[in-house]
Amino acid sequence: MTLYLGVALVAAAVVLFIVQPVVKGIHASLEREDDEMTETEARKRVALLALRDVEYDFLAGKLDEADYRSLKAELTAEALAALEADDAAKSVATGAEPTATVDLEAEIAAIRRGLRAGTSCPECAYTNAPGSRFCSACGAALGELAAS
Ligand SMILES: [Zn+2]
Repeated sequence: MTLYLGVALVAAAVVLFIVQPVVKGIHASLEREDDEMTETEARKRVALLALRDVEYDFLAGKLDEADYRSLKAELTAEALAALEADDAAKSVATGAEPTATVDLEAEIAAIRRGLRAGTSCPECAYTNAPGSRFCSACGAALGELAAS
């Protein structure tokens, strides 16, 4: 009995010894991912969030059509520039050819659809699957527009 216990303890210690660097590695990689948000990624995120806010305010009736259109045009230009800059930065980082087309309209359409369906995250602008109650990206509660 004592022998078994001893073997089990040694086995547990060995497993811990082996697993520890792996766990530390996973932790480190998670931390690194946060730090690795590049300047262009941050700019793209800010631009898309601003666009989302405009869509949000328009749908909520806080913006009239004229304001909505001029703000949207302005922010779309910024978002497009940010997306292109991010694309270029990524292609430099990976050594890949830059992808020729930036599908901004598709991104905006997805945000708009998400807002109408209540699946666009109010915190991070991530477009979640229909019927989602919480954001898959950041865990925020969804559907605030519908509720207000
Ligand atoms: Zn989110």
